[in-house]
Amino acid sequence: MKIIKSDLNSIAVSPKQYPENNLPEIAFAGRSNVGKSSFINSMINRKNLARTSSKPGKTRTINFYIINDEFRFVDLPGYGYAQVSKVEQEKWGHIIDEYLSTRENLREVILIVDIRHEPTNQDLMMYNWIKSFGFKGIVIATKADKISKGNWQKSLKIIRKKLDIKDNSLVIPYSSSNKLNKEQIWNLLKPLIE
Ligand code: GDP
Repeated sequence: MKIIKSDLNSIAVSPKQYPENNLPEIAFAGRSNVGKSSFINSMINRKNLARTSSKPGKTRTINFYIINDEFRFVDLPGYGYAQVSKVEQEKWGHIIDEYLSTRENLREVILIVDIRHEPTNQDLMMYNWIKSFGFKGIVIATKADKISKGNWQKSLKIIRKKLDIKDNSLVIPYSSSNKLNKEQIWNLLKPLIE
């Protein structure tokens, strides 16, 4: 995929702040610190467009990035901070629910997990939530550079088992550091945004 242009389009907490035109969107969900911003940045050849290393307690927002003036990547607020209050958790749930349930131009929601760890119960909840909206359930297992290639299959199997995924092709190893499998992922995303 040739990336000519990428920009922050909008930062939203409610539908009136979503971008107005109905370009196709692919959204990304995942635990805080899992490597979601790094994934987005590396896919579009940017260093810092999606902010990395977000701090606990920071305002939860949905960030829309417009790419080639043709489609958007949507960075959903991360979950899984230990010290988050119940009120904040509810706010997080509400922000995501509103987006997933109202956004007509949303083509797919992709879950990002860390290849080194079994997905958490929150990952499982998020994944089931994504599937309940009728999405395919693509999972990117990032930070694959942190384990040897010989151990990938073992790790991918643990991820598939926890998330109850039967189709092996739905879980793809990735590394934002060395951009492993970047084109393979673009090939998967392209038909969704055309
Ligand atoms: P986010 O909170 O999910 O957006 O996570 P970030 O993208 O900020 O990444 C969290 C930390 O993991 C940062 O220190 C990144 O440099 C690091 N990181 C993210 N992706 C990778 C990867 O593929 N490989 C390695 N080695 N480190 C990564």
